[in-house]
Amino acid sequence: HSGFVAIVGRPNVGKSTFLNRVVGQKVAIMSNVAQTTRNKIQGIYTTAQEQIVFIDTPGIFKPTSKLDEFMVNSAISTLNEVDAVLFMVNAEQTRGAGDNYIIDRLKMIKKPIYLVINKIDQIHPDKLLSIVDQYKDALKWQEVYPISALQGNNVDEFLQQLASDL
Ligand code: GDP
Ligand code: MG
Repeated sequence: HSGFVAIVGRPNVGKSTFLNRVVGQKVAIMSNVAQTTRNKIQGIYTTAQEQIVFIDTPGIFKPTSKLDEFMVNSAISTLNEVDAVLFMVNAEQTRGAGDNYIIDRLKMIKKPIYLVINKIDQIHPDKLLSIVDQYKDALKWQEVYPISALQGNNVDEFLQQLASDL
């Protein structure tokens, strides 16, 4: 149960906060992932039997310049190299153009994709269902997990699920 997982999502949804919570040990497995991907490793989750290497892919947005286009294409190619993708959204915000752009790009990725709804500490529990509703048919999600990366709610459960799927 080991593998590489890329994290995508709009700015400020909590990707770095999640990675900081997960961050840990040195990389014991490198397998055949390309050099470009190695450089993006941001966090490693390790247990006795499992290791998940997380890769931050900050640049998936509608490109408006050649440089943007280069960054977006680089991020997309990373998604094709990993074992699974984690798409993070902010529970406080309604689904927007930035989310939709990423979702459209994810439709072409033939990997298990997890929807992670972050910042649930900021919303009333009754609101969660309507957030899930906004996304549930957008893609064929492997799993949907509400979490708080900041406070840790449901993070261990999610990591265990992910590790057992890999
Ligand atoms: P990134 O741009 O996706 O990497 O987002 P960051 O990890 O930098 O987080 C953006 C902001 O959201 C920071 O101020 C974080 O402290 C805050 N944040 C991240 N996760 C949570 C969460 O689960 N709950 C709350 N309340 N704030 C969060
Ligand atoms: Mg970040």
